[in-house]
Amino acid sequence: MAETPEQFYARTVAAGCRTPPVEEWASWPFEGSVTPKALVPPAPEPPRMGVGGVDCRACDAPDDAYFWTDDRWRLQDAGPGGLPFVCVLEPRVHADEPSDLGPELAREMGWMIARVEEAVRAIGHIGRVHISRFADGAEHMHWWFIARPADQAQFAMMTAVIWDDVLPPVPQDVWDDNKAAVAAAMDASR
Ligand SMILES: [Zn+2]
Repeated sequence: MAETPEQFYARTVAAGCRTPPVEEWASWPFEGSVTPKALVPPAPEPPRMGVGGVDCRACDAPDDAYFWTDDRWRLQDAGPGGLPFVCVLEPRVHADEPSDLGPELAREMGWMIARVEEAVRAIGHIGRVHISRFADGAEHMHWWFIARPADQAQFAMMTAVIWDDVLPPVPQDVWDDNKAAVAAAMDASR
């Protein structure tokens, strides 16, 4: 039987959190040891932005806020940050969970994820494109595509998201070229 939030909290507080040897991880961005924060007791979560499509920033945004669009999907860049390129794929229709899209659009979502991943790699010198759906901040479905440089295993796996904030930002002109390369590759794969 699944633990309730209260049971989960009580068990983990009683047992105590672990401290993984992050200073030994090749991809960990920081020197020195770390200490886990105290666990916060369960409480109702704050509402996510745009619940039910009301005051939804994505639904309200015009197409020129996106660098590539078609009839059902839009791509928005999220930078410049420290990594070569980060962008977000959204359906035009307001949806929370993937199953909210229904079978036809959900199938298309799978192909769109494949297209965007390939398009981000078309920038060149990309080692890996991480794909994530966090969805804790805004309800409108959005898939993250997070590109790390080639030959840089130091930025591997989940630490890439932290490295994006640690590395100095990519110069705007390089970022714009990368964005244009992704848009061109999306057009080429229509
Ligand atoms: Zn929306």
